[in-house]
Amino acid sequence: MLSIDQARAAVLAEVRPLPAEEVALTDALGRVLAEDVTAVVDLPPFANSAMDGFAVRSGPTGRRLTVVGESRAGTPANRAVSDCEAIRISTGAMLPAGADAVLQLELVSDGGATIVLNDDVQPGRNVRDAGEDVRAGAPVLRAGAAMGPGEIGMAASAGRGSLRCGRRPRVTVIGTGDELVGPGTALGPGQIHDSNGPMLTALARRAGAEVRAVRVEDDRDATIAAIAHALADTDLLLLSGGVSVGPHDHVKPALEANGVEEVFWRVALRPGKPTWFGVKRDDPPALVLGLPGNPVSAFVTFTLFAAPALAKLQGADRDTKTRRAQLGTAVDRHPDRDECIRVRIDADGLATPTGPQGSHMLSSLVEADGLALIPRGEEPLLAGTQVEVLWLR
Ligand code: AMP
Ligand code: MG
Repeated sequence: MLSIDQARAAVLAEVRPLPAEEVALTDALGRVLAEDVTAVVDLPPFANSAMDGFAVRSGPTGRRLTVVGESRAGTPANRAVSDCEAIRISTGAMLPAGADAVLQLELVSDGGATIVLNDDVQPGRNVRDAGEDVRAGAPVLRAGAAMGPGEIGMAASAGRGSLRCGRRPRVTVIGTGDELVGPGTALGPGQIHDSNGPMLTALARRAGAEVRAVRVEDDRDATIAAIAHALADTDLLLLSGGVSVGPHDHVKPALEANGVEEVFWRVALRPGKPTWFGVKRDDPPALVLGLPGNPVSAFVTFTLFAAPALAKLQGADRDTKTRRAQLGTAVDRHPDRDECIRVRIDADGLATPTGPQGSHMLSSLVEADGLALIPRGEEPLLAGTQVEVLWLR
């Protein structure tokens, strides 16, 4: 059986990044940048005032100056400032020629036509220089960056209205199981709500994908048909359930019938051992992950294998966010499978299990901050042991 790292490497080895497309800046949240972005202009583009006050020449306190104009944000003054003069200025307004400083309103006695400066004014006081943040032509964002609100603000300020971003991966989620009914539907005997459909949809959306979700009963022909339909326009197909060897598990033979080539089946992992991965070698290829049906197993294996694949499809420069944390309590280990346990990270940075860790127990996913990786072994890991945590937030 492959280790988690071997399985993840086997998935990533099959991922070819999707082509880039031009995306309006306002739609770029959550997208992955496919180009280096440089500033079109200096930032700030011109020397301007950090305060509301008067633009003056530097000099000693007590000077009486004549007010000869105004520089407003967006409307610069139409003349320069000389020694005995001041120009009224707003925050962000262009520093007038001749001025090398601004004295804020609070330090000025304002008589209307003339003012008195009540402080020494050093050169550069309250002035934001052109290019002091970024020089025109300098790189501000690198290809592979995840576009968050800060990156969008940076790109807008740098003069960009659109950006080249990796295309969003198309994901299809197929939930298998005769027992499944849609969210919000009353349950008949033996039925359960399909939680993997909505959960995997949410995980894939949050990872940047466009997602479609369907359910299929435990029937060989129906499973073959659902997979064939999905493969026509899917970059990553996620199946949940039906991937073990029970009499009603049809996913593996149905994938085989569709010409999907198996890369691996089973990972030395708890929860998530039955995970299956394969590729339909079309142009473009479709990646297929058969995730276990138990909801926590599906969540964990999505996080370990599907999330990095979606990141790489979009051209991201990093796939999983991990941190080191100390265990807040002792944790038992599995002798021959690495384990992912749901943990909360407290204010002191200690990782503590959120509750019972059964693979069917969704309650302990609620408010989990991360999945702590517990390497296989005989003895429990003691409280205080450093572990790697896959960050979920
Ligand atoms: P399976 O892998 O099909 O044997 O399913 C394993 C367990 O996961 C069973 O208890 C199923 O009822 C449950 N399960 C399978 N699919 C889903 C789903 N979409 N939502 C919630 N539970 C599921
Ligand atoms: Mg099933």
